[in-house]
Amino acid sequence: MSKRDYYEVLGVAKQAGDDELKKAYRKLAMKFHPDRNPGDKAAEEQFKEVSEAYEVLSDENKRAVYDQYGHEGLNRGGGGGGFGGAGGFADIFGDVFADIFGGNGGGGGGRSAGPRRGADLRYMMELSLEQAVFGATESIRIPTWSECESCNGHGTADGKKPGACGTCRGSGQVRVQQGFFVLQQTCPQCRGRGSLVTDPCKSCRGAGKIRREKTLEVKIPAGVDTGDRIRLTGEGEPGDRGASSGDLYVQITVKPHEIFERDGNDLHCSVPISVVTAALGGKLKVPTLDGEVEIDITEGVQSGKQFRLRGRGVRSIRTSGPGDLYCTVFVETPVHLTKQQKELLRQLGETLDKSGGKHHPEASSWLGKAKRFFDDLTQ
Ligand SMILES: [Zn+2]
Ligand SMILES: [Zn+2]
Repeated sequence: MSKRDYYEVLGVAKQAGDDELKKAYRKLAMKFHPDRNPGDKAAEEQFKEVSEAYEVLSDENKRAVYDQYGHEGLNRGGGGGGFGGAGGFADIFGDVFADIFGGNGGGGGGRSAGPRRGADLRYMMELSLEQAVFGATESIRIPTWSECESCNGHGTADGKKPGACGTCRGSGQVRVQQGFFVLQQTCPQCRGRGSLVTDPCKSCRGAGKIRREKTLEVKIPAGVDTGDRIRLTGEGEPGDRGASSGDLYVQITVKPHEIFERDGNDLHCSVPISVVTAALGGKLKVPTLDGEVEIDITEGVQSGKQFRLRGRGVRSIRTSGPGDLYCTVFVETPVHLTKQQKELLRQLGETLDKSGGKHHPEASSWLGKAKRFFDDLTQ
């Protein structure tokens, strides 16, 4: 019998685009769909014709062959296989009908979920600043599954391979007639395994695997910071048989440090100095990640003065140069003074006062401001 022209079947022009094709096909497929025309042979034939036309024209390669050689070209194998196969058919429907029939109704059954990839795991790891800055190798214990030894992983009480599933005869797939379609579905009895455990192993309750802990060595690169993640490929939960394992993500949190505060690659610290050092100047030992360093304190330094130590910060994993270390000094008022010390300070105070604010420029300027403020109030 002679076949109708595919473009004619769909009622579209030769140069119709993908959207136009799809639209035309949807309309006709809805009209002739077997579910809407139960028992109507003519409608079923038309539905087949429409579907076939769409299958060819929506495929770039097949359409090119058809455009050049017509039906003849496709039959010669230029455009590939027959039409009735479950694969191509289900795919068309998964694509076009998903939003019309709500996914499963149309025939998405051909594409079962398949073996599932294992889940990704997240491990929260706390590091000290030193570990984060210099890098470290940490052992962590994570849960995992391993084959059950009691049943050799088969999940059976006798440890032998389980028998074939009667429903799917071991294939794991069943064919389901749904209206006009024949669909392949995952066997509901054995959930695609192809075998059924009738007397389950007591140790693993038929799962064939047992939860265990495994120890992993995690290499932490130098310079990591809170919020960084280290990915260990394949160390997540195992997947179904034949599927890959998930990944393990190690999420880094850096604990607060006693001395240093971190700001990206820079470090900050506060260093107390005595009144004497502040007034006379001198050497001050400050801690850095590479050990103690001496800095020069100039005469008359005030609280809040910041000293920058270049390159004494953190060497980051992202940027090339290291950060800086900022040391902020603050003057510590002496406490627990003896009578004699207090007397010396009083004498010192008198000599300072006699000089008329020369030694305390901040205080005298502040006093001046305060006096003006009170004068304005009382006027
Ligand atoms: Zn089965
Ligand atoms: Zn077992």
